[in-house]
Amino acid sequence: MGFLAQLKSLFTSPSGESNVLMLYVKCKHCGAPLAVRVNLANDLSADYDHGGFVLTKEMMDSRCFTLMRAEIRFDAARQVVERKIDKGEFITREEYVAMSQ
Ligand SMILES: [Zn+2]
Repeated sequence: MGFLAQLKSLFTSPSGESNVLMLYVKCKHCGAPLAVRVNLANDLSADYDHGGFVLTKEMMDSRCFTLMRAEIRFDAARQVVERKIDKGEFITREEYVAMSQ
C-alpha cells in the first residue's frame, strides 16, 4: 500500500462524511452566499514546501458569476491552518443559512 493510499484509509469512515469539509463563502461583488463541498480525502494536495496540505478551489456564484478562488492550507492532520479567498469572503454556516433563506 502506498503512502497516499494509507493516508486515505486513515481518513475513510464508514459513512464517508467525516472526509467532507463544507466551505461557506459569499461573493464580494453581489453578496450571494455559496456552499462548497471539499473532500478531504481526495481534493487536497500535499504541500512539499511547508508540510501538510493545500487546497485551491475555484467557485462561481450563481448571481453575478464572479469566479472566486480560495486557497486553504491544512496541517498534517487536515485541520485548516490558513485560508484566503480572492473576490469573496468566508462566512460561517449560520450566516450562510440566514442568507440563503
Ligand atoms: Zn456575485
